[in-house]
Amino acid sequence: MTSPAEAYLEFKTQQIRAEWESGDIHPALRVIVMFAALLRYRLTGRKTTLTSLLRTGDPQSPHCARPCRGADLRSNDLAHLTASEWAAQIKYAVPYLGDYSTVLLHDVGQGDHLHLQVSPTEADPRKTDTPGGVK
Ligand SMILES: [Zn+2]
Repeated sequence: MTSPAEAYLEFKTQQIRAEWESGDIHPALRVIVMFAALLRYRLTGRKTTLTSLLRTGDPQSPHCARPCRGADLRSNDLAHLTASEWAAQIKYAVPYLGDYSTVLLHDVGQGDHLHLQVSPTEADPRKTDTPGGVK
C-alpha cells in the first residue's frame, strides 16, 4: 500500500500505520489525507502526522465506518492562523458530498487536531454496487 506520496506522512503509532496500510480506509479519504499533507508541507515545510483512524462504538462517527471515512491529523504543533489556513485550503479544494464539511479544525479543549471525513455517499471504486463504481 505504500506509495512515494507517503513521504509526506508520519504516524503517531505503529498501530495507526498498520491501519493506514490496511484495506479498511476509504480510497477517497486516502486521497484527501495525501492532498492535505501536501498542503501542510507547502505551508510549513513539515510532514503530516496521522493521529487517529479506525475506531469502534459510535455508529455516527466516520472513524467507525468500514471502510473508515474519518482521519485525524495533528495540528496542535502549528500556530492557530497556520492551522486555520491549512483547513481553509482543504475545505475550498475538496467539497463534501452532502451538508457537512470535509474538514473540521477542533481548536478548543485538549488534543487540538484537524479532522478529515468523506461522506457515506462517497462511492468506493473498489465496489461494483456503489454509484460511480466499476461495473
Ligand atoms: Zn476525527
